[in-house]
Amino acid sequence: MTYKIKLSRMLAPVLLSGFFLTSSPQTLAQEAVRQDGEIKQMVNQLSAQNLEQLVQKMVSFGTRHSLSTTTSKKEGIGAAREWVKSEFEKYAKTSGGRMTVEMDRYTVKADGRRIPQDVEMANVMATLKGTDPNDDRVIIVGGHLDSRVTDVMDAKSKAPGANDDASGVAMVMEMARVMASKQFPATLVFVAFQGEEQGLYGSKHLADRAKKENWNLVAMLNNDIVGNSYSAETGLHNNTTVRVFSEGIPVNETEEQARLRRTLGAENDSPSRNLARYMENVGERYVDQIDVVMVHRADRFLRGGDHTPFNQNGFAAVRMSETNEDFDHQHQDIRKEDGKQYGDLIEYMDFEYLRKNTGVNLATMASLAWAPAAPDKVSVLTADLTNTTQLQWEAPAKGEKPAGYYVLMRETNSPAWEKKFFVKDTKADINYSKDNYFFAVQAVDAEGHASLPVLPVPVR
Ligand SMILES: [Zn+2]
Repeated sequence: MTYKIKLSRMLAPVLLSGFFLTSSPQTLAQEAVRQDGEIKQMVNQLSAQNLEQLVQKMVSFGTRHSLSTTTSKKEGIGAAREWVKSEFEKYAKTSGGRMTVEMDRYTVKADGRRIPQDVEMANVMATLKGTDPNDDRVIIVGGHLDSRVTDVMDAKSKAPGANDDASGVAMVMEMARVMASKQFPATLVFVAFQGEEQGLYGSKHLADRAKKENWNLVAMLNNDIVGNSYSAETGLHNNTTVRVFSEGIPVNETEEQARLRRTLGAENDSPSRNLARYMENVGERYVDQIDVVMVHRADRFLRGGDHTPFNQNGFAAVRMSETNEDFDHQHQDIRKEDGKQYGDLIEYMDFEYLRKNTGVNLATMASLAWAPAAPDKVSVLTADLTNTTQLQWEAPAKGEKPAGYYVLMRETNSPAWEKKFFVKDTKADINYSKDNYFFAVQAVDAEGHASLPVLPVPVR
């Protein structure tokens, strides 16, 4: 999508704002320039040079294959995990005891495919405990530490995995560094997964744990292959767009949810899809020269990622990946063939691009963490045939009391929210037909940090 289209879709609602019945009508165009100084400052602290040094260090372990050595201090996944842990511990020192670091170990059973015998793996996690004891929300950002070459079972050959996925782990670490000293009411989890290439084992472990322990996990941001901007195959060089993949129809949808989705026409409005919209809106507000492009599918062809187990457990989760993937430099033995270099080498990366993508993640996470929890029991009244829309909801039961709510609106064929109304009450009468638009409600604090939007359930 081009800048021109975006501008027109933001400007259009301004002209219509006089029609709203609610108080203080607000448009997305107005909000596009409303920045929180503290988020902007954190985004400015992200460093391309730091990111490069982090990737360089990860590459230095030779291979980070999930079945590689765990006894060497210099090589293999064991040494790499210990190093990530020690870095997290450094950042934790600035948190006043609120950031804790753990090696979350789990055993993966032999499966006759990518796991030849039982193996112990571990996710390295830094958890920044929320400051509000009454707010149990959790937000996760993750990348995978393990790497591979052409043969997924080859645990010995050099597998630098600079872009896949040291880029994602470096992003997570740089975010943890910058965010550790800040106070957020919600809990933030920074995680380097293991076992992605062998079958998403680390993310499956954490997603299952979140489900079992009943975490109020509101968003999971997966970052995998986020640091290269050039494709030799196509000759395309693009460091100003990045893709965010999200599922449309939730993979774990129940019959009841499916029925509701059909009634609303909400196949483009899963919680994950609306998280992707949130990321586009907030990311572009804080990071210059980046266009967050929503891809309306769960992932690329032939590929999976660490967001998938979270989706399977019913959580909102999305995947960020660069726009132009370079398949000569992913999952490849390091070699030269016909003068062409193969392998996931650091020299093919673009750290300024990685810095911008890190900024999009940081702004999204901080904005969500500082927002109130989402409103409860959002409903649209459908008792009568009318040409207007009556919405009502309840304040979130836990955490900060919202300063008000945004009612989001868009045409049913529009990919992005086009218009928002600010209301202080827990209901809104909108002078547009519920039959012709999609609506959702966000809770918002006095600084404009908004929760994820909640779609209404029709009630009579
Ligand atoms: Zn990957």
